[in-house]
Formats: sequence, structure tokens, C-alpha cells
Amino acid sequence: MREQKIRVSEIFGPTIQGEGPLCGLPTVFVRTGGCDYRCSWCDTLHAVDSAYRDEWAPMAADEIWAKVEALSGRRPLTVSLSGGNPAIQPLAPLIGRGKRDGYRFALETQGSIAQDWFPALDHLILSPKPPSSGMAFDEAALRDCVKAAGYGPEIAMKIVIFDEDDYAFAKSVARSFETLPVFLQPGNHTPPVHDDDRIDLDGILNRMRWLVDRVTSDRWFGARVLPQLHVLMWGNMRGV
Ligand code: SF4
Repeated sequence: MREQKIRVSEIFGPTIQGEGPLCGLPTVFVRTGGCDYRCSWCDTLHAVDSAYRDEWAPMAADEIWAKVEALSGRRPLTVSLSGGNPAIQPLAPLIGRGKRDGYRFALETQGSIAQDWFPALDHLILSPKPPSSGMAFDEAALRDCVKAAGYGPEIAMKIVIFDEDDYAFAKSVARSFETLPVFLQPGNHTPPVHDDDRIDLDGILNRMRWLVDRVTSDRWFGARVLPQLHVLMWGNMRGV
């Protein structure tokens, strides 16, 4: 059977993972192209919007793997599978290839599509989108992702927060998935800042301070509040 190609937006690193449970960990990113969502504040439009489709290279797992090996100097590390929504891509051969060489894999997805290869991951970061994204939340689909992953990867929930409605959403999701660790992340990319290296730093830090106040005054001591480290360091620049 002919191998299905993976649509790749960019492969870069090593750098550090800037958010969620692996924040600060050296990693190589494989960012796939294409997403079944269109969040209002998406900060990776170059991997979502079909206007960028010409930049998404259809690649075989071995081709991708050659790049990851070159970037990592063949020293095993955690590969971050990101997007877009990487869960819509046929990633099983890539994960299998890397694991044979001792690499680890983390995948971040909004949790809209479950795959039978989720158990092969080391980390599954589920990032359901809050009301400010403009997307409808599908709890059943998220639950399918957790079920598909089974006891394979470590699973964590990461939720972007812009406002009070988002915060209420995060609390509700955390209650529904109470065994999973929750990471809350102040939102980036408030309009009119779009698709370049400028960010609304004051906005992000104000949101971060508000979020810390909100979580501590609520005595929500299981939640972890983290900014996007790479955004603070490099803004919205691609490939860092
Ligand atoms: S799910 Fe993620 S990649 Fe897709 S549109 Fe939303 S923020 Fe962008």
C-alpha cells in the first residue's frame, strides 16, 4: 500500500517547548499544515489558512525523519507534533520511525479527532478551545481522544484564557476531566496584532496577572498558570 504523505508546514529546532506541561524542554517541532478549526485568535495561521497551502509540503515519514535527525544531531529528544491540527495527519509511521531510535513524541491538538495511534505518543496535550475562539466545544470528541490514548501517553489539558467566559469554560472542562492536569494560558494575539513578531505584551501580562488572581482567589490549587514562554522571548515569529 502506498504510504500517505504528511502535510508539513515547517520543521524547526532544536528550541524549547514554550508552553504547557513540557515548557522549557528542548525539542524539535514538526508543524503540520491544515486544521479543522478556525479560531478567531489563531496564532499559527500559516499552518491553518488555505492561503498558505502552497507552503505545506507533502512529505513521507522518512523524509521528515531525516530532517529531525539532522536538526537534533541524532541525539534523541522529544519531538513536538504541532499544527494546525496534527491529529488529522497520518503520523503513525513517523512516530514508529522515531521511537525505534529512542526519540519521544508529544502531540498537541484541540481534541476534535481521535486517532488509533495516540497510544504510541509519550505526551498528548489536549487544548479544547474556549468561547472566545468562536468554535463550538465538542466534549464527546474530547472524551474520545482521552479514550483512544488509553494508558499510552501522559495526557494534560491546556486551555487558553482571554476572559471570564473562557475561565468558566476551563473550570467546567477541568471538572469533567478531573483526573487530568490542567494548564491555563493567558491568550495571545488580541486583534489588531496579526501574524508577525509584534505582540501585545502589556495585554498578555495583564491577562496573566488577572488569571493568577482568579485562580488563587478561587482556591483552584490544581491548576497551573503559565504564559507562552516563546512568545515572551520572540513574539509571534515563526520557526523559533
Ligand atoms: S485549533 Fe489551533 S491551529 Fe487550529 S485554528 Fe484553532 S488555534 Fe489555530
